[in-house]
Formats: sequence, C-alpha cells, structure tokens
Amino acid sequence: MASITKCWSEVVGVVPKTDNSKCKAWKQIGMATGWGSLLQDEQQLEELARQAVDRALAEGVLLRTSQEPSSSDVVSYAPFTLFPSLVPSALLEQAYAVQMDFNLLVDAVSQNAAFLEQTLSSTIKRDNFTARLFDIHKQVLKEGIAQTVFLGLNRSDYMFQRNADGSPALKQIEINTISASFGGLASRTPAVHRHVLNVLSKTREAAKILSNNPSKGLALGIAKAWELYGSANALVLLIAQEKERNIFDQRAIENELLARNIHVIRRRFEDVSEKGSLDQDRRLFMDGQEVAVVYFRDGYMPSHYSLQNWEARLLLERSCAVKCPDIATQLAGTKKVQQELSRVGMLEHVLPGQPEAVARLRATFAGLYSLDMGEEGDQAITEAIAAPSHFVLKPQREGGGNNLYGEEMVQALKGLKDSEERASYILMEKIEPEPFGNCLLRSGSPARVVQCISELGIFGVYVRQGKTLVMNKHVGHLLRTKAIEHADGGVAAGVAVLDNPYPV
Ligand code: ADP
Ligand code: MG
Repeated sequence: MASITKCWSEVVGVVPKTDNSKCKAWKQIGMATGWGSLLQDEQQLEELARQAVDRALAEGVLLRTSQEPSSSDVVSYAPFTLFPSLVPSALLEQAYAVQMDFNLLVDAVSQNAAFLEQTLSSTIKRDNFTARLFDIHKQVLKEGIAQTVFLGLNRSDYMFQRNADGSPALKQIEINTISASFGGLASRTPAVHRHVLNVLSKTREAAKILSNNPSKGLALGIAKAWELYGSANALVLLIAQEKERNIFDQRAIENELLARNIHVIRRRFEDVSEKGSLDQDRRLFMDGQEVAVVYFRDGYMPSHYSLQNWEARLLLERSCAVKCPDIATQLAGTKKVQQELSRVGMLEHVLPGQPEAVARLRATFAGLYSLDMGEEGDQAITEAIAAPSHFVLKPQREGGGNNLYGEEMVQALKGLKDSEERASYILMEKIEPEPFGNCLLRSGSPARVVQCISELGIFGVYVRQGKTLVMNKHVGHLLRTKAIEHADGGVAAGVAVLDNPYPV
C-alpha cells in the first residue's frame, strides 16, 4: 500500500525524488519543501490561486456570503485547497467498500426500537435535545408508523490514523444521518483541481483526479422514494433554514430532481406549522399540495427548534410521507449509538448472520468509550485526564465546533466526573493523521500555505419499502482539509475547506 506520507513533490516531480519510501523527511520537506517549489514560489502560487478561484466561481463552487446569508445577489466561492491532497487508493477503496455495510447498519439500528431505547436511556436523562427527539420517536411508535418507504442519505466520515509503523489506517470519525452536506459542491471541485494541474502542464496528474457526483446519487435516492410513495402529483418538501449560505449545494439536488420532473418546494419548520396538515390517512399536505418526501436540511441542532418547530417536526413524523431521515434514523446517527455499536458483540447483535459486513465495519472503528456512571466510565475519565492528547470528548451534537480537546477536555471531565450529566457525552480516541502541506483559499483572506490534515466522507443511499431493501449504494465522496491548528470543525463551521483526493 502506498504510504500516506508520500509527498506531492514526488507525485508532481517538483523536487528530485529523495529517500521518500516512508517520507520520513516529511517533517523537513513538509512545510519547507513538501510541495517543493510549488508551495514556495509565492508569485506562482498567487497566479495559480487567481486562476483556481475564477474556475471555482465558473464551476459553481459557491456559498452565499456571511453578510447576506439569505440572498443570492452577491455570492462568493466556497473555501478550497489549491492542490488536491494525497489519499492512499487502498483507503479510498476500503471506505467505498464499507459504505453499503454502514447503510445496512444505520437502517437496522433505526428499526431496532429496543436497541435505541436501551442505548439512549442514560443520555436522554441528561441531554434535552436527544430527549426531545426520542419523545417524538416514542410518540410515533405508540401511534403506529404510517410511513412505509424509508430513505437514508448519509455520509460516513473518516480520518487516516498514522499507525506505529507509519502506515495509515482508515478510522471512522462519525456517520451523518441527517442533512449530510457538500454532495453538490463536491461534484464541482474536480474541474478546479484539474485546471490547476493543467495550468502547470501536469496533464497526467490532472487526469488522476476522480470524477465525483454525489448530488446525482442522492437525488436518485430521493427519486426512488418518491416513485415508491406512488402519487404522481406529490412533491418533495425540503426543510430549509431561513439563512442558508450553502444553498447552491442543496440546489444541485433540487436541479437533479427537477430534471426528472419531480418538483421540490423549500419551506421552513415555521411554514410547516402554519400551512402543513395531515388528512385522515396521515397524508401530508403543504399549501394544499401532497408531499411524498420530506428532505431535512435543518433540524439537527437544538438552535433549529422553537416550541413551534418541535410541533412541526412531530407533524411531519406522524405523516406517511417518506422522511429523510425519519426520527429513528436521526437517533441512529447519534454519537452515543456509535459508541455502543463498538462494544464487543454489538454489531453481531444488530446485523445477525453477516460476519463479513461486521468485520469490514469493525475495522474502521476507533476507540470509543461510554461515560455512563460506573466503573467503566470512571476508568475512561481517569485515562483521558492522564493522557488528554489521545482523546476527544463529544456531546450529542452535530454541525462542528462542539467537541472538547486537551486542557479544555480535562477541565470538563473534572467537572462532570461526579455528575450524571457525563452520560450525555462519549469519549473517543483522537485520530492523529500525518500532516502535509497545502495552500488554503478562502474568500476575503490571503492564500495560506499551512500544514493540514484531511477528512474523507463517503455518501451512502438506501431505500427500503416495508422490509425489502430496494436500493443500497455509495454515490460519491467528499474530502475536506483543515489546518492542523484547528482540532474541530467542518466547512460550514468555517474551519475546513473543500478538497479532492489525489489517489496514490
Ligand atoms: P460533528 O457532528 O460536529 O461534525 P464530529 O464527530 O464529526 O462532529 O467532529 C467534528 C470534527 O472534529 C471532525 O470533523 C474532526 O475534524 C474532529 N474530530 C472528531 N472526532 C475526532 C477524533 N476522534 N480524532 C480527531 N479529530 C476528531
Ligand atoms: Mg462531523
């Protein structure tokens, strides 16, 4: 397997090939010469950056601005790396190969009410947000689930752990079962990186940048669910936020659906509570039009919910429309579920008779530790306080910027130690990828050559009708890269930037 530490200098032939088998000299070549003259020649970088930004704008790698998040009058480019980052092909293949297993796993957990109840019982006592989601789940179960078609659009995220021998290993960070984003913009960035390499006359290297079209695959999943719902005039309802900087990412999916004659309406939770209704068969109507599929690009953080919005969410959940995700699938994506699934025997319990899938899944698991009251949790806390650089403390939150690291984590753990509140968190082994040099481009800031690490996401789609799985596939990838000085945070959180894997 190619070493992740193989340097760009070697790939693009910028610096003469040195003793690069393990790139032990990465640290020295890293910042200093990792991209060789490419990362050092300021003038050339500036010109390349200008070209890259213009191409990104032309390709539609766009975000609304933070000044005007509700308007498309003035837009800018989404942040991205000037060069694609090296990713070992074997890890890319492994991540793709395990995606259908993750789809099966999420789907199985979402149908296992006993597992969800047991797993989340300590957490919902202390975490109000998860508790509210769980309340809706219980309410819908009690009434009887009206929904018969189920649609999962998820993204499993990984980092490349550096093993003791220097080789990299694929380790899952988390799986996103609600509002997994950047499938739209990720289809537009390959052209930008090919452009940069072509400007440098690296046509062979440019041809190695993989084509990628997650939004098309995600839309095909929605289209399948819409078709199985079986009402030709019904719509797709996209639950959107009022201020949405990432609207072009969402539009990519809407456009794919419209091309298949499936109409999408964008509405807020507030609109649902004002104008949404159920008929006696629990069919969902919005502004008088029947809704086949509800696609959430909102509703994954406490701040997304007022009392009114919680009521709207309950109304949607009670309906027979296909929710993407339904509330059980959102719960299946919590960090607490991720941690419990890593317990010995748990995957086998949730996916009986599928030892190969179980083995593939387990190979991607990092260390995950419960903080429930008791000896096991006590020991995890003691270990994390003794070696804080090896752990991450995670609450049940999505969207980036919520985890605690280092001294902050130690202080939090000391405060939580004797309180039942600790059960609303999990501890995770901190993944330490090998840093590499790249140049980050962000609107309004000068180009920055920095040491970086990447996070790879694979998009998965599945559709189930009753008990029959009718679609299960992977539909593309997302690479995000950030400067090593940031422990946490994604693109939307303003930390990571869009990237492409350069397979080696
Ligand atoms: P969120 O739901 O907020 O996206 P994540 O679990 O994905 O939560 O964590 C946010 C970010 O924190 C990740 O994108 C990654 O950069 C960093 N991170 C999370 N878990 C780990 C880990 N175990 N090791 C190293 N970095 C991590
Ligand atoms: Mg994440």
